[in-house]
Amino acid sequence: MKRAVFPGSFDPITLGHVDIINRALPLFNEIIIAIGTNSSKKYMFSLAQRISFIKKTYAGTKKIKVTSYQGLTIDFCKKNKIDFILRGLRNPADFEFEKAIAHTNRKLSKIETVFLLTSANTSYISSSIVRDILRHQGDVSMLVPKAVK
Ligand code: ADP
Repeated sequence: MKRAVFPGSFDPITLGHVDIINRALPLFNEIIIAIGTNSSKKYMFSLAQRISFIKKTYAGTKKIKVTSYQGLTIDFCKKNKIDFILRGLRNPADFEFEKAIAHTNRKLSKIETVFLLTSANTSYISSSIVRDILRHQGDVSMLVPKAVK
């Protein structure tokens, strides 16, 4: 059973996340979308809202589970018998950041990180830009799945 976790803040889920998830679906038997919670971080959407956006987006997709966790992603993986961490790469900055984390996670566990390059048409999308647009009452309908709209 190939099981992967797609960890992130998903504040909110965007079409960039959806692109990575959809393209990873054929690679794994199950993908757990896990919202990492950090009590010192301020989110625009509550945990319940962020979970609900993802659940609505993937209602009917049996391979996808949605949950939240606290602490290290590798500990979450060990507890839930997950062998792979899925991450998206948008640009060189993502790569540098993710490389250090993936190396560290490999040092601390046997869990492999699988990277997918973003599709060209969604690579510019980020949750932080979506939040900025929302703060100024702008239109985000081209950037997020229907459930967020
Ligand atoms: P985090 O706080 O962990 O960066 P995010 O919700 O911002 O949480 O991102 C979760 C994952 O989704 C990361 O691997 C990130 O690189 C990826 N991701 C974010 N935006 C995009 C995008 N536009 N295209 C592809 N992957 C993306």
